Amino acid sequence: MSLANKYRPQTFDTIIGQEHITEILKAQMQSAREMHHNYLLFGPRGTGKTTAARIIAKAINCLDLQNGNPCNKCINCTTINEGKTLDYVEIDAASHTGVDNIREEILDKAVYPPTALKKKIYVIDEVHMLSKGAFNALLKTIEEPKANVCFILATTEIHKVLETIISRCQVFNFKKVNDEDMTKHLENICIQESLIYSPSALQVISRIAEWCVRDAVKYIDQVSVLGEINEDHITKFLGVAPESMIEDFLSLIKKWDKPDIFHKIDEIHDQWVDLYNFAKQVLTYIDQRFLLDIDFLANVCEAFTEIISTIRYYPYPTIVYKIALNKHLNKWNETPIHTQPIHAQANTQHEVRNTQATKIETPQLSTSQPSTEKKESEPTHVDTTDTDSLLKSVLDKLEPGSFRDNLHNQIIIDEVGENKIKIIAINKISEMGLKKPENITHIQKIFSEILWRDVGIEVKFENKENYFARKLG
Ligand SMILES: [Zn+2]
Repeated sequence: MSLANKYRPQTFDTIIGQEHITEILKAQMQSAREMHHNYLLFGPRGTGKTTAARIIAKAINCLDLQNGNPCNKCINCTTINEGKTLDYVEIDAASHTGVDNIREEILDKAVYPPTALKKKIYVIDEVHMLSKGAFNALLKTIEEPKANVCFILATTEIHKVLETIISRCQVFNFKKVNDEDMTKHLENICIQESLIYSPSALQVISRIAEWCVRDAVKYIDQVSVLGEINEDHITKFLGVAPESMIEDFLSLIKKWDKPDIFHKIDEIHDQWVDLYNFAKQVLTYIDQRFLLDIDFLANVCEAFTEIISTIRYYPYPTIVYKIALNKHLNKWNETPIHTQPIHAQANTQHEVRNTQATKIETPQLSTSQPSTEKKESEPTHVDTTDTDSLLKSVLDKLEPGSFRDNLHNQIIIDEVGENKIKIIAINKISEMGLKKPENITHIQKIFSEILWRDVGIEVKFENKENYFARKLG
């Protein structure tokens, strides 16, 4: 027997991470067993909805209820468990979308009383897949409740279920199992099965299974064939990449050396790694670190989202990666300047002079495609009276992001002196951002580069009206 079947919960108490639901159901089974409820269970895939539906069915019919849980021993429990009763019907609506099937399977039969159980139970999984006609047929049946018939509907997409159906059911919202509950559950199974495991491997498994308990247990079962459950075996058996591989890959992308990146994609593919899973892993990794490098990671996310949505339809997964990365990361790379190196020293004069051009190449591109254009050695004259252009050149050299956005249209160059630039911030947030020591140093360096001399920065707040009144007056 597979571990997934062996450890499939048979009572409310053994369902993982849904106590907010199971406690209510247990109480209900004990005290209000005469109520004619229909149930609607919704939540993400793998949270135990159909397992719960079967437990509800048993509890409703059980002859020896144990504190709200089915006994799993009485004749009613066992016939349901063994699928030997016509009074318990499980339907997967994904394969019964026609109204005729629903009529045949349910409406026509629901009128007869149960043959053996106390109540007939109809479980309709993925109920949102029913056609509109099938929904209406179902609604009619539910509208005229019978004491000895109960419907248990389950869905991952409750917004597709008719309001009129929802309002006639008791609704329970299943949640994704949290990391801690999941790893504890996997650990218990490993201990009971005498399997050797590393705790970090269990975390990796719960992540790949996307917190679907059944899948996670299935993975434990598969990896245990290799002996110990560790990350190395997970990579080998499940095609899952170790975290270091994701980190290396992201830093390659950040450098944007295309041949290297494309070569790495082939390499990852050659190392047992499933590229669909890898894309999911990259997105999970980014999700946990999004704030660290928003602009870059947002672009990587776009690329990987596209990869996930298309990779299943193409026979060559590596090509899907290359095309998506090329498309989305080119876009990111065309944005002028994210990581302009600041050259302030005399021995890099030529580079300094080149950066005076208003159109600035990204450093990555300039290394792979060196400019053949010959530049003069004299510094270009900068018109310091045109403060708008000067400011634009400075802002263009900042990395894209919230700091640059906050300065855009919010600061004015008031005066360009020999050693000092006076800047007016017309917005308090821009003033605060600009006055941070690291930012002021950065901006000073950019001004010094462009003006070809060392200058300091003085920042003052002044509201726009006052500023222009002062200038005009
Ligand atoms: Zn029982």
